[in-house]
Amino acid sequence: MAAPRSIVILTGAGISAESGIDTFRSAGGLWEQHRVEDVATPEGFARNPDLVLNFYDMRRAALAAVEPNPAHRALARLEREFAGELLLITQNVDDLHERGGSGQVLHMHGELKSALCQSCETRSPWHGTMIERPPCPVCRAPTLRPDVVWFGEMPYQMGRIYQALETCDLFVSIGTSGAVYPAAGFVQEARAAGSRTLELNLEPSEGSRMFHETRLGPASVVVPEWVDEVLGS
Ligand SMILES: [Zn+2]
Repeated sequence: MAAPRSIVILTGAGISAESGIDTFRSAGGLWEQHRVEDVATPEGFARNPDLVLNFYDMRRAALAAVEPNPAHRALARLEREFAGELLLITQNVDDLHERGGSGQVLHMHGELKSALCQSCETRSPWHGTMIERPPCPVCRAPTLRPDVVWFGEMPYQMGRIYQALETCDLFVSIGTSGAVYPAAGFVQEARAAGSRTLELNLEPSEGSRMFHETRLGPASVVVPEWVDEVLGS
């Protein structure tokens, strides 16, 4: 195939899991002690805000104990050295892409290190806790919530994402389950627009049959190999 000129990449939990992030589907850890409807829905937050704020305070603090892996660093190298257009979209709310060196990351499900004010709707960088109801840096109201897209809420920047999917010539999905919409539908969007589609995953996903090609293996191995291939080194 010809060298791609415009690439859209979607990363999911699989790339963070290798860094030791406690993911939604992993056994043990924070998620196993909570029900999704309690900690990842607007209704759960309305019911028990302390539980939800504490849950995300713990997840935010846990980021200090994990490091980006070779897959994150390879994607940062791709951003630096690829001559064409690149859009890196992640479903992950951690900061491992940024700490791995990526400068432009579209967090479609929000970020742990960001606060969303329910009064003025401003998103502010956030590194501390929220359980004590700190004031919003912009409007001073004590109405901050985690800037994380919960079930039933609209992911960020969908217009920009669909526009990029329509014009890319290569779509690459890395470490995603292919089970959560709307991200699970990106491969069909890209294919319908005529681009090649590649899946890099630890094991076949629910969406594997939708891709032109699937390469199986740990992200820390298959992602650097693919980046080397694209950069011709
Ligand atoms: Zn505010």
